[in-house]
Amino acid sequence: MTRDVLSPSRSLSNPDRLPVMVLTGFLGSGKTTLLNRLLRSGPRSAVLINEFGSVPIDQKLINEQNIPLMTLSGGCLCCQVRGALAPVLRNIRLAWHRPGAPAFDRVIIETSGVASPEPVMDTLLRDRWLSRNYRLDAIVALLAAPVAESILDRHAEAQAQVAWADRLWISQTDLATPTQLERLRVRLEQLAPATPIFQSEQGDAALAALSRPLPHGPRPLPESREQPDHPFHSLAIQLPAPVAWPDLHQILLEVLAAHDEIVRIKGMVHLTDQFAPVAIHAAAGHLFPPVPLSPRVIEDRLSRLVFITEGSVQRLTDAFINRWPAIYGNARVHPH
Ligand SMILES: [Zn+2]
Repeated sequence: MTRDVLSPSRSLSNPDRLPVMVLTGFLGSGKTTLLNRLLRSGPRSAVLINEFGSVPIDQKLINEQNIPLMTLSGGCLCCQVRGALAPVLRNIRLAWHRPGAPAFDRVIIETSGVASPEPVMDTLLRDRWLSRNYRLDAIVALLAAPVAESILDRHAEAQAQVAWADRLWISQTDLATPTQLERLRVRLEQLAPATPIFQSEQGDAALAALSRPLPHGPRPLPESREQPDHPFHSLAIQLPAPVAWPDLHQILLEVLAAHDEIVRIKGMVHLTDQFAPVAIHAAAGHLFPPVPLSPRVIEDRLSRLVFITEGSVQRLTDAFINRWPAIYGNARVHPH
C-alpha cells in the first residue's frame, strides 16, 4: 500500500458534508461492543454494517433500536460487496435532514472483520459525489488485547487495518495480562508510530476522542489495487427451535477443538430456559460466555450461528452433517 496521492483539501466545517466513521478490526475484535458504546454516548448515528457471513448477526446485537440501520451481508465490503457501498451511502446521505426521516448527525460504517479499509476509503474519497457529500472523520481499528499479536502475525488484513487507521482501540483489556498489553503496545507503535491508542477500559473521554475529527487535513488516498483475495469462508446455520445451553455449549467446544480453521463464531441464539436471546462469541479458539440480549420488539425465535473459517468450510460442513445431525438436520444451512 502507498500513501502518495492526496485528496483535495476541503473545509472541515462544510455543513453539507455528513461526517463518517469507519470501524475496522479483525474478526472477534469487539466492533459491535464498541459500536453500542458509541451509539449510547456519541452523536446520533446512522449505521451501516457489513458482515462476511450470509446471515446477518450484528444488527441483532445493536442495543439501540430506533436508529437508521443498514446491512450489507454475504460478503466483504472491501471486495465482494464493494460495489454496493456507494449506492447505499448515497441513499443515506439523501436521507440526511429529510423531513420525517429519523435524525442523525453522522454515519458509522462497521466493516466485516476481514476487510481492509483501503477500498472503503477509496470509495469515500475518490467518488466525486460521495467526496463532496461526506467527510471521513475517523478510521478506527480495533484489536482484542489477548489475541491481537498472533492475529497480526497471521493475517495481512489485520495489519492493513492498523496501517490505515487514524485511531487504534484495544478491546478486552480486562482479559489480557500486563505483559500481553505491553507487547501489543510496542508492536502497534512499530506498525503505526503516530497513531493514537485508546483502551476499552478508558471511559467516555476516550470514546469522545474517537469521534473527534483529527486535524490531519487532506487524507492520503490509497492506490487503486486489485481486489484482495481473502482466504475466508463462512457457514451460517439457522435453528428454528430454541436449544438447551449445555448441549450447544458442548457442541461448540467440540467444534472449536476439532476445527482450528475456525477463526470466528458468532450468533444470536434462543435458549430453552430463557425468554430473551443470548449472543454467542468465539474467536481465536476461545468461547466466551453467552451474553444476554434485551428482548426484541419483533422476534422470530429463530437462532442464528455463523462460523467463519480460514480456508475451506467443507470439513466443518461435513462435521455438522456427520457428528451433529440433531442440529444440522433441523436447520437451514448456508455455506458461503
Ligand atoms: Zn474484502
